[in-house]
Amino acid sequence: MKILVINAGSSSLKYQLYDMTDESVLASGRVERIGMDSSIVTHEPADRPEVRVVDEILEHTSAIKRVLDMLTHKEHGVLSSVSDIDAVGHRVVHGGEVFKESALVNQETKLEIRRLFDLAPLHNPAHMMGITAVEAVLQGVPQVVVFDTAFHQTMPQQSYLYPIPMVLYKRHAIRRYGFHGTSHAYVSERAADLLGKPLQELKLVSCHIGNGASATAILNGKSFDTSMGMTPLEGLMMGTRSGDLDPAIVPYTMNKEDLTLTEVNSMLNKHSGLLAISGLSSDMREITEAMFDGDKNARLAFEMYTYRVKKYIGAYAAAMNGIDVLLFTAGVGENSAVLREHVCDGLTFLGIKLDKELNAQRSKEARIISTPDSTVTVMIVPTNEELLIARDTFKLTKQA
Ligand code: ADP
Repeated sequence: MKILVINAGSSSLKYQLYDMTDESVLASGRVERIGMDSSIVTHEPADRPEVRVVDEILEHTSAIKRVLDMLTHKEHGVLSSVSDIDAVGHRVVHGGEVFKESALVNQETKLEIRRLFDLAPLHNPAHMMGITAVEAVLQGVPQVVVFDTAFHQTMPQQSYLYPIPMVLYKRHAIRRYGFHGTSHAYVSERAADLLGKPLQELKLVSCHIGNGASATAILNGKSFDTSMGMTPLEGLMMGTRSGDLDPAIVPYTMNKEDLTLTEVNSMLNKHSGLLAISGLSSDMREITEAMFDGDKNARLAFEMYTYRVKKYIGAYAAAMNGIDVLLFTAGVGENSAVLREHVCDGLTFLGIKLDKELNAQRSKEARIISTPDSTVTVMIVPTNEELLIARDTFKLTKQA
């Protein structure tokens, strides 16, 4: 069974083609600058070099057609015909309270995703364009939607409600949803597998630290609490996002600086975090390099960032009455030894003891980086959201 996984953004579309007999990736790629002049298609067959083509791609249906051309191309292709694609799985950011798990695409599913446009105005409309484009080009091929929020739907009310008037929750669904759920679900399952223990019996804290960052407390195999909220702005400090702050700062700043709602929103989402404090970059590689070169602002940004991760680990250990496994994943979590070292430093009271040598080793494999006498197992688990989307798509379309 061959499954095409799609992550459609407003001006980009990423794809991976899986052969589910052995879960291998046959090809992957992306279309960038959709709707702009000179769109770029980058296609990478698993066994041949990458190809890049510059073209004019005005909307998502043309982008999907271009992807299918690449997948069946006589030189760069990996399929003899598009009819070899059995199903398509889509990443969808917001599933609201309706989608507690992945779902087959039908009229009802599409209607619900549209109803959620308000909650994720930058993402859900773009995903819908991807779904409609596949419908137009691959008629009759079943599609599945996999939501970033679904894993967190198990959070209890005490975790997901904000202490504001209940009418706002009832009228406008203002509550915490959490994101990166596909990643937290994947890495926690993978960690339990590697440890040879049932996930249901472990207390895990999963730290997904990339451009966006979130921590999740996983109890009895379920998300119990997570740091992102109604939007992906809450929680940890991120590359350009502030994370937690006193909400009174918003009206105060608007008043003092004469900012509009759009401007203050943009300040908190695009001009805060590492970028704001360092005055240099939102990229953790550049921050750490500058810090080692003696840049004081970069050091402050790094220290604020790691301190906030540490506080969430402590909070979640308290929330679950303990912690068995601490996981690091995503771009920064998987690659930055110095970040992991700083986060774990001073957490011996929780039973966290990092093995500095194991932590410093470079590898793409999931592995343990704590000492044998550490009561908490600290692990790096590379995330693979696409694989989980392919698996869910496989499961749901097999049953259909
Ligand atoms: P996204 O949230 O966009 O999926 P990723 O998970 O790919 O992001 O993470 C991207 C981030 O990972 C970038 O900020 C990048 O600086 C960081 N990163 C990648 N490699 C390293 C490294 N060796 N050290 C520190 N940060 C790294």
